[in-house]
Amino acid sequence: MTNKRAITIARGDGIGPEIMDATLKIMEHAGAMIEPEFIDIGEKVYLAGNSTGIPDEAWESLRQTKVFFKGPITTPQGGGYKSLNVTIRKTLGLYANVRPNVSYAPFVETKHPNMDLVIIRENEEDLYAGIEHQQTPEVVQCLKLITRPGSEKIVRYAFEYARKNNRKKVTCFTKDNIMKLTDGLFHKVFKEIAKEYPEIETEHWIIDIGMAKIADSPQDFDVIVMPNLYGDIASDVAAQITGSVGLAGSANIGDHVAMFEAIHGSAPDIAGKGIANPSGLIHGAIMMLVHIGQPEVATKIHNAWLKTLEERVFTGDISKGEKSVGTMAFAEAVIERLGQKPETYQPVEYKQTDNANEQNTKLDPAVKNRPKPDVVRALDGVDVFLFNNEHTPDEIGEKLEELAGPEFSLKVITNRGVKVYPGGFPETFTTDHWRCRFQLTQKNGENKDIVGLLNRIHDANLDFIKTENLYTFDGELGYSLGQGQ
Ligand code: NAD
Repeated sequence: MTNKRAITIARGDGIGPEIMDATLKIMEHAGAMIEPEFIDIGEKVYLAGNSTGIPDEAWESLRQTKVFFKGPITTPQGGGYKSLNVTIRKTLGLYANVRPNVSYAPFVETKHPNMDLVIIRENEEDLYAGIEHQQTPEVVQCLKLITRPGSEKIVRYAFEYARKNNRKKVTCFTKDNIMKLTDGLFHKVFKEIAKEYPEIETEHWIIDIGMAKIADSPQDFDVIVMPNLYGDIASDVAAQITGSVGLAGSANIGDHVAMFEAIHGSAPDIAGKGIANPSGLIHGAIMMLVHIGQPEVATKIHNAWLKTLEERVFTGDISKGEKSVGTMAFAEAVIERLGQKPETYQPVEYKQTDNANEQNTKLDPAVKNRPKPDVVRALDGVDVFLFNNEHTPDEIGEKLEELAGPEFSLKVITNRGVKVYPGGFPETFTTDHWRCRFQLTQKNGENKDIVGLLNRIHDANLDFIKTENLYTFDGELGYSLGQGQ
């Protein structure tokens, strides 16, 4: 290894600069071959009037080096500031969030001494697509988007990760008993891709019981893959029960760029005091070194860090009243132990083949060159959503029955997903947001039939606020049935 690898570094806000300096010092002593390009992002940039928190020249550096090592950032409260993490993830297509959660008993107190699991969270889709609307005075909605290529990418990433890191099992969490189409697709893709990795054990849990199992018996898990929102929550629960959120690092991986950081924030309450634990960022650095093909440096730092903990050198967040050291003294303790291996903990050894970079470039064409699905899509009907706070369900229903034909027949009206017509219960609570389902009465219906229906509804002084086309795909329903339908 002779060439230095250019990486983009943001020292961050709050405790960021302290822990970044400590981490870079360790990397330098361990022989990391890196050429840092420092950029300013975060609080300073936000407060200078850039609501994204990231200036143009920072993007240039990121797109050039393709590796981003990031200190924590403070997001100022209010003022329309956008989350920098979400902006960076989405703009650079960082679809996989990888978070190892390891407990370090007996030196770090935890209820779960044998925990060693990795959460792989889908990072771009789901409810985080940010598509929200207020539709009536009483009702707002957020679109949950799950795509086949997005699910394939993340699930394949999880299996490749397991294979490369000698992990034995991949678990999938969804809520497909309720969200049969969206979470159902994620689970279906999981089952399909699992077949390509016969040596890896697989299982699926509904997210609620799965989350409870993480909290109760995390040692039963190995790699867990899940959609965005569940992953967001599960990864914090998992980090917390290892004993300290201050110890974990994370990677955000895309086809072209990858970002590495600590999982904690900028800890403004202890900023500038020199007491922050740099371990989370050190773990981010270890993941980055493996990614850029310097696994021996990563191994050296990781083992020295374990040895430091074993010798009870702790920052204040871990020491629980024992003597503690500051940020830089902790880094120096790690530096003194470079080249040593832990005795109580299992020493680690990263290999060149763990290089996630190679893995990405391999996954990219697999998804990009996928054959376009050859399915027959046929219009089956339309859901028309009405704003209404004057008519009863029966009044709307009878009116719409008259307006539906000849192309459509009114099937059902629901309110918050529950049937209110025909034959609704007076006990059912209703809002001003009514979903009216029309079924095509003949085959080969077209969008212009929907336009005709909408015109009739408009002329009858009913207020439609959106429509959702109903399709079948190869004869199978591409929409859920209303409760009670
Ligand atoms: P936080 O993680 O910054 O702090 C939570 C608590 O943990 C605090 O008491 C803090 O002192 C302690 N803590 C965190 N890291 C520590 C460390 N390395 N050593 C010792 N103690 C540590 O969470 P918060 O207070 O909710 O957020 C503060 C700011 O950080 C907010 O502006 C938030 O938006 C931002 N944030 C940024 C990121 C990121 O950049 N990835 C992540 C989370 C939060």
